[in-house]
Amino acid sequence: MSNGCATATEVRVPRVVLVVLLVFGLVSSAGAQTPPEMPGSPSTTPSEHPVSSLGSFLAGGAIGLAAHESGHLLFDALFRANPGIRKVSFHGFPFFAITHDTGLPRSQEFVIDSAGFWVQQLGNEIILTRRPNLGHERAPLLKGLVAFNVLASAAYSGAAFARTGPVERDTRGMADSLKWKEPAIGALILAPALLDAIRYFHPDAKWATWGSRGVKVGMVLLVARAR
Ligand SMILES: [Zn+2]
Repeated sequence: MSNGCATATEVRVPRVVLVVLLVFGLVSSAGAQTPPEMPGSPSTTPSEHPVSSLGSFLAGGAIGLAAHESGHLLFDALFRANPGIRKVSFHGFPFFAITHDTGLPRSQEFVIDSAGFWVQQLGNEIILTRRPNLGHERAPLLKGLVAFNVLASAAYSGAAFARTGPVERDTRGMADSLKWKEPAIGALILAPALLDAIRYFHPDAKWATWGSRGVKVGMVLLVARAR
């Protein structure tokens, strides 16, 4: 999560945390769990223990979360927005939000709030482009990462449609920056997530590939409208 309206910077994020999160983000973006395989060839990875597979899958999800937050922190740092961490709750479920200074220009606010989704979308783009047959491969870490990227976007879009959740939620900040209604942001987040899920199960669906890329590029271009 990021934040649209923190009233104060609570806990400054140490630089070392920022660096660690960025490394996580870069590793996940590289998608370098195992070397790329020839298209259509069966997986060459030896069979894995189910428990270690689950552990790898969950680790992939954790990397996805760290990468999302590192996206916020990257632009917090670029815009000198004094990032901090605040405990929040989502219908009783404890979570945390990365806060930043208020009063930023709308374009900067939009970039910071969008950055978590950008990282998710770029991550899936790199993975699904380099490993189009991932669904048929034995690669639990990458699968966990792709699953996080899809499911987190779906969850965020659900909160945006319902306009619920902590006030620091990304979609509310993005909507405010554009002066849009929040459900429209929800649709914008959900579309590439659904299209990437279709790509995962149907690598030959070129319409899904190019549709997803188009929406992702369009989301970045929306920065021009946030002013
Ligand atoms: Zn976020």
